[in-house]
Amino acid sequence: MLSIKEKDNKYITGTYNRFPVVITHGKGAIAYGEDGKEYIDMESGYGTNSFGFCDDEWLAAVTAQLQKVQHTSNLYYTEPAADLAEMLCQRTGMKTAFFANSGGEANECALKAARKYGHTHKGDDCYTIISMKNSFHGRGFGAVTATGIESDHRGFEPLVPGFVYADFNDIDSVKQLVSDNKTAAIIVECVQGEGGVNVMTPEFAAGLQKICSDNDILLICDEVQCGNGRTGTLYAYEQLGLHPDIVTTAKGIGGGLPIGVCMFGEKADGTLVPGDHGTTFGGNPVACAGAISILSRMDEVFLADVRRKSKIVFDALEGTPGVARVDGLGLMIGIVPSEKPAGEIVNECLEKGVLCITAGSGGSQKVRLLPPLTITDEQLVKALEIIRSCLA
Ligand code: PLP
Repeated sequence: MLSIKEKDNKYITGTYNRFPVVITHGKGAIAYGEDGKEYIDMESGYGTNSFGFCDDEWLAAVTAQLQKVQHTSNLYYTEPAADLAEMLCQRTGMKTAFFANSGGEANECALKAARKYGHTHKGDDCYTIISMKNSFHGRGFGAVTATGIESDHRGFEPLVPGFVYADFNDIDSVKQLVSDNKTAAIIVECVQGEGGVNVMTPEFAAGLQKICSDNDILLICDEVQCGNGRTGTLYAYEQLGLHPDIVTTAKGIGGGLPIGVCMFGEKADGTLVPGDHGTTFGGNPVACAGAISILSRMDEVFLADVRRKSKIVFDALEGTPGVARVDGLGLMIGIVPSEKPAGEIVNECLEKGVLCITAGSGGSQKVRLLPPLTITDEQLVKALEIIRSCLA
């Protein structure tokens, strides 16, 4: 009989490089391997299990909904989707929310809406979308084209026309690409995740906001990884004084079930009309019930606690042997190693019972930490001790 690893390697399409661990179950910030080994989870499924494994309240909300309606087509109304949309709009000031199933899909919705907005308001030539180098927006053709990482494009050309790439945190490079009647939108992460945990500067944010306002260009904030409390505010754009016209999110809002959201502010709302966009599973009542459980507990007290834990991480890592610099915001952290390659450190951490990942590419890779936001201080301190021991 094949082992789980052998079966996976044989039958699952080989698009992932997996660590040699089978995770069988988990609770909170602790994951258990097939061999009974315990791991402190410092990556939470790329920031998806925001309340850790099998959080009791989330589990109760999801299972209660499963026993009522697990799915209906979008021809009918359901309570969880309506409640979640209301909650998101009230918390953000956005006007409406489109539900998708992933971050990539949320971005496809945003990109389509941006194109339609450009065509409707500024003419058929208005379709260019500016994105940033080192950004990551997903794997579908629109989102992968928006992604500013060349290696993600290789082999899939021709990509979608009408995308151009600026340097993150370099406002002049954005200005050079702007054409007031051809640029439909700028899409940006406030903290680039896959591209290396790069935090947007306030100057860049102010510059982007001005360019968008002056030229009637939609500002799309991709909060798929940096949103939902991850950086210590509900959405990271709040800390940068941005007023996005479209916000996309996914990952952490679902607490572990697939959900994506594309929210429209005043200016962009109403762009998409019946027939323009849709998805079978979008707004799935079980995923929405789980997201309500997560979002309703991310109040100011909770967010302040994320910021407090962030300080624990920065204090423990900054200036310690093997660390050149610590980047990030809240509990989205990128450690720039000075002694060893990030990949080697991540593997050592795994050996010693801590799950973490890398960010960025080539020689400039960082060790990325995205712990569950509910990790206890004791677990956090223990994980940081192990990480420190692997850095030097
Ligand atoms: N946008 C950002 C900023 C992401 O980090 C990701 C995934 O890592 C995506 C979009 C794509 O999300 P998904 O993998 O759910 O399609």
